[in-house]
Amino acid sequence: MKDTFIHQGMRKKLVATLQKKGITNTEVLAAVNTIPRHLFMDSGFLDHAYVDKAFPIAADQTISQPYTVARQTELLNITSGATILEIGTGSGYQTAVLLEMGATVYSIERQNELFKKTKRFLPKLGYRPKKLIFGDGYKGHPEAAPYDGIIVTAGAPFVPKALLAQLKVGAKLVIPVGDDVQIMTVFTRTSATGFDKEEFGEFRFVPLLEDKN
Ligand code: SAH
Repeated sequence: MKDTFIHQGMRKKLVATLQKKGITNTEVLAAVNTIPRHLFMDSGFLDHAYVDKAFPIAADQTISQPYTVARQTELLNITSGATILEIGTGSGYQTAVLLEMGATVYSIERQNELFKKTKRFLPKLGYRPKKLIFGDGYKGHPEAAPYDGIIVTAGAPFVPKALLAQLKVGAKLVIPVGDDVQIMTVFTRTSATGFDKEEFGEFRFVPLLEDKN
């Protein structure tokens, strides 16, 4: 569990790359600059940790591309102290970004192997989500709703109604929608029954699967 000057230098370059690609939110960039992404990956991929690409983690899943994490987080438009629900804990990297930004984080993972691994791993780096949940993200986590934001980090074939229902008025759901290719879609709750919808281009994610295993 080492974070060296070399890693820190590579992170600075990654931050510069993200800025070139259009990320402007300074808190998001600061989080990427701080978090040792290489520790979230299997040792075989250490050399790739600070390249702007997605990489395999356990259980046939991926750690999202840094640009994607940064873009989705920027679109959530949160302030410190916000309560956020994340669907798809995976490696926990996105969770760490949200925690660095001062959010209270609930995160759901459907793969038991990954859930257990990440639950053990995050506290070792000092990251303490409010709750990691082994379950089906399609249902959200009504126990702690409503949220100041919900972020889905897997490709959703459709927009789960339960997630829209768990937003506060004014809060956003950031969700990649589609089968093979996804359109990054942001829903803003405008009232008890009203939602605005905006679209932010194409992305590719592993699929949001139903139920858990
Ligand atoms: N945020 C993660 C991205 C992991 S990839 C990271 O930063 O590493 C997407 C994750 O979503 C995978 O771990 C996958 O197992 C999980 N997933 C897929 N369908 C899900 C569902 N219905 N509920 C919760 N998690 C789900």
